[in-house]
Amino acid sequence: MLGADVWRRIVGLDKSTVIEDVEVDVGQNVVVVQVRPRRATKRRCGRCGVRAPGYDQGEGRRRWRCLDLGAVQCFLEADSPRVTCPTHGPTVAQVPWARHGAGHTRDFDDQVAWIVTHTSKSAVSELMRVAWRTVGSVISRVVAEGRAAHDPFDGLSRIGIDEISYKRGHRYLTVVVDHDSGRLVWAAVGRDKKTLRGFFDLLGEERCDKITVVSADGAEWIADVVRERCRQATLCIDSFHVVQWATDALDEVRREVWNAARRGGMTEQARELKGARFALWKNPEDLTRRQQGKLAQIAKTNSPLYRAYLMKEQLRLAIRRKGIISLTMLDSWLSWAARCRIPAFVELGRKIRRHLPGIEAAMLHNISNALVESTNTKLRVLHRMAFGFREPEHLIALALLDRGGYCPPLPGRSAPTLAALS
Ligand SMILES: [Zn+2]
Repeated sequence: MLGADVWRRIVGLDKSTVIEDVEVDVGQNVVVVQVRPRRATKRRCGRCGVRAPGYDQGEGRRRWRCLDLGAVQCFLEADSPRVTCPTHGPTVAQVPWARHGAGHTRDFDDQVAWIVTHTSKSAVSELMRVAWRTVGSVISRVVAEGRAAHDPFDGLSRIGIDEISYKRGHRYLTVVVDHDSGRLVWAAVGRDKKTLRGFFDLLGEERCDKITVVSADGAEWIADVVRERCRQATLCIDSFHVVQWATDALDEVRREVWNAARRGGMTEQARELKGARFALWKNPEDLTRRQQGKLAQIAKTNSPLYRAYLMKEQLRLAIRRKGIISLTMLDSWLSWAARCRIPAFVELGRKIRRHLPGIEAAMLHNISNALVESTNTKLRVLHRMAFGFREPEHLIALALLDRGGYCPPLPGRSAPTLAALS
């Protein structure tokens, strides 16, 4: 029989826990470690940690799942009495090895949370032998603890507000990122004024006054709430969104040309245009050889579509430049758009003119598009992964875990650095 100290190390416990016995349940092929909290950590409220008088024996003895020992499952077993907390009333007492309300140990939760940000949904379930909905509750616990330990809104000054869709575009989340730390700081279900006001309510008046820059996509509902709550803030439209408008306009042109070709019986040309979608969307430096060929063909055979493509590219280059050059380029782009006779781009030109102060402000304040863009891309991957979650709260927890900096280190390793987040 190994000594208690060795067992403590193996199942990841510290000195605040006493090991009473270790049993192997041959029938179920599991190891059960009998434990109890040391006196100093006993009789504390499971929610707030305040010392409190005993209430009753609760559910009696219960088990918490630990990390597997090799191929064998392992459990801790202990009493789970309740205490009378002055704030929370009768509550299950705190245990040093697990978070409140959890059926798994702290190490187990942490490992699930780490793996979920690094691999596929099915791999997590299979490897950890847990249902996907359990993964949702685990990460919600881990994130809630992280947010309680450190104020997530501390020092916010330059923020970005955006919406992302989930459930195949039928539902939306409003998200807030911190431009300085690169973290996702808040997310909630919905995309309307009421949802966004919820964020500023949490932030409070004093911290709202410290917000200097807010970037968004030009949506009126965001602009209205920002003007109402952040009186000191400059409202910007980051170039990521402006490029997105241009890509949408280009797609409209492509669809029109495609429809015209189809109606005119030019099936061959219509088919080629359909396949050209990605070649037109991508940045020229990212095109594959085949896509380059596609583009060259469009340049030869389809002048309005190619002109629209060039206009999108020129706009992208203009607003990604910095300073006065950028403004000059944007200005000449606008006069090009005004006389281009492509309706989608004439309209885009008008839209950009309407939003010009916000676009210029983003250039001036040097808002990093890379950040907004990478957060968007990453979140899109996440909600594909979180598709199986019934509760949007779990999707939000997953997003915060991964992009908010709440992913715990693997048990027994050191904490990740901020650099590892990007
Ligand atoms: Zn309490």
